[in-house]
Parts: sequence; C-alpha cells; structure tokens
Amino acid sequence: MRPVQYNTNLKMVDLPEGHTGEGFFATSLNNVIGLARKNSIWPLPFATSCCGIEFMATMAAHYDLARFGSERLGFSPRQCDLLMVMGTISKKMAPVLRQVYLQMAEPRWVLAVGACASSGGIFDSYSVLQGIDQVIPVDVYVPGCPPRPEAIIDGIMKIQELVGQESLRRRNSEQYKGLLESYGIQ
Ligand code: SF4
Repeated sequence: MRPVQYNTNLKMVDLPEGHTGEGFFATSLNNVIGLARKNSIWPLPFATSCCGIEFMATMAAHYDLARFGSERLGFSPRQCDLLMVMGTISKKMAPVLRQVYLQMAEPRWVLAVGACASSGGIFDSYSVLQGIDQVIPVDVYVPGCPPRPEAIIDGIMKIQELVGQESLRRRNSEQYKGLLESYGIQ
C-alpha cells in the first residue's frame, strides 16, 4: 500500500488579471465568471469500460479530484458542464453519447479520456467508433491505455485553462458556432 501524504502547502487560486490598490481589486466580469467556473466544474462521467476504473481512482482519496472543485459528479446531463468520455464507444452507443451531449446546457466542455474515446484505441473494428470526435466536438484528449490518474488530472487542468480563458458567452463566438454547425448541432 502506498503511504498517504498530506499536502500542507495549500495555495489559494491565482487572481485573474485586474487592477489592485489600497483595499480594492477590480477585474472584468468575464474573468470573475471564468475563475468561478474553472474551480467548480461538474463532471458527467460517461464510462463504458476500463478507463472508467482509472477515473474511480482519480476520484478516490489518494488523487482526490475534489481539490479541483470537481467532486460533485452529476448523472443528469442537464446539471453538468464537463462530459468525460472514458472507454470504448461502440457505433451503437454513438447516438446515445450524442444525445447526452445535446442534453447538456451551455457552457459545456468535453474530455476524451484514453485511446478508445480519442481514436478507437486498439479496437480498429467494424463495431467501434474511431474516436468520439466523429459525433461530438472534443476540447481535450487524454492519451494512454489506460491513462494514469495523473494524466486524467492533467486533462482536467487543461479544461480548467480553457474554461478560465473563454468568453462568458462562449456559445456566441463565431468559431464555436462554426464548430457546432460542422457537427449538425444548432
Ligand atoms: S483506452 Fe485502454 S484502458 Fe481505456 S477503455 Fe480503451 S482498452 Fe480500456
């Protein structure tokens, strides 16, 4: 059993860009919302096989995803903002995955965890989807078969960077609209 170590050097979140002076700090609404969103991501785990087990380890005490404000998993798409796809997705499952994505409210992000979700992995067969980006847009890919919990945490931190920097009205950006249209999503 690995020894458990406690991190006693806890650090507060970094301040967003802004102006500071005697007794005040001013920044933009975009930055404040970004800061709040990135530190309170609610993941929806869409786990179909072995990568899901690594995610369970990521949630457990040793790796403790709660440190990132993401301890609250949701199994209702309407309450979540991060779709984490972990495992082999068969072609039969693809419409179900897409429907789950469509049921999520904006703003929403997608993390493809592991080789299967990212590219079909070792299952180059007639029945397996060769990457979830064939049916829904993906924001971050985590490589590995399976990826270790450290890699999954790294993926979540990359999502946090995106969330913190993106516009308050993500959905209204031309680039994002174009991306959704390319998937036939209104
Ligand atoms: S990437 Fe590897 S570990 Fe993950 S679901 Fe596929 S076969 Fe399993």
